[in-house]
Amino acid sequence: MIHDNLIHVQNNINHAIENANRPKGAASLIAVSKTKPVSMLMEAYEAGIRDFGENKVQELCEKYEQMPKDIRWHMIGHLQRNKVKYLIGKAVLIHSVDSLRLAEEINKEAQKQNTCVDILIEVNAAEEDSKFGVSLQEAPSLVEAVAKLPCIRIKGLMTIAPYTENPEENRKYFRQLKELSVDITRKNVDNVSMDILSMGMTGDYEVAISEGATYVRVGTGIFGERNYG
Ligand SMILES: *Cc1c(COP(=O)(O)O)cnc(C)c1O
Repeated sequence: MIHDNLIHVQNNINHAIENANRPKGAASLIAVSKTKPVSMLMEAYEAGIRDFGENKVQELCEKYEQMPKDIRWHMIGHLQRNKVKYLIGKAVLIHSVDSLRLAEEINKEAQKQNTCVDILIEVNAAEEDSKFGVSLQEAPSLVEAVAKLPCIRIKGLMTIAPYTENPEENRKYFRQLKELSVDITRKNVDNVSMDILSMGMTGDYEVAISEGATYVRVGTGIFGERNYG
């Protein structure tokens, strides 16, 4: 089932890239495996997946220990400062940086462990109260402040669009995130690139790709519904 789902999702991604006249491989898939057992992740691994997304530090670390070492783990969930230290060296990319204090903590822990950490700035484009992330307006100044930290590299932006039955309703948010990335690129801030746009989930990844997503984060479409029991 997972194997078939992956083929289906990857086909949709390829078509969306083609329809948008973007280069082959312009958007890649992160398999969002939160709450799912390692056995299911291994099925995806065996079908070729190497990018996995988790939203809890402890779960990411446990799966990291149990799974092959060529996996790229993406931290996509809200991150508490006291958990940062466990992630360093395990997550290749932290998608969910939304405050200077959190960035400072990541920088401090990276420094301690003699490394640098790649991050994205999380933007709450739709300004939903239930979601983390800075507003579109606040993002540029946060980028400039975080860019001064020596052990952090800003690689782009991430957004979680509202839940909707009609993915077209989220097109405006994806477009705004892309425009923001272009505006920030124009400022030419040292230590900042805007190569990555992490946007689009099971319900709306094709629309996100047509607006410039470089990573889509798909969970349900690969592993089925989550059961939080
Ligand atoms: C759970 C989650 C996803 C995947 O959502 P689906 O709708 O299951 O594809 C993507 N991004 C984030 C940040 C998530 O927490």
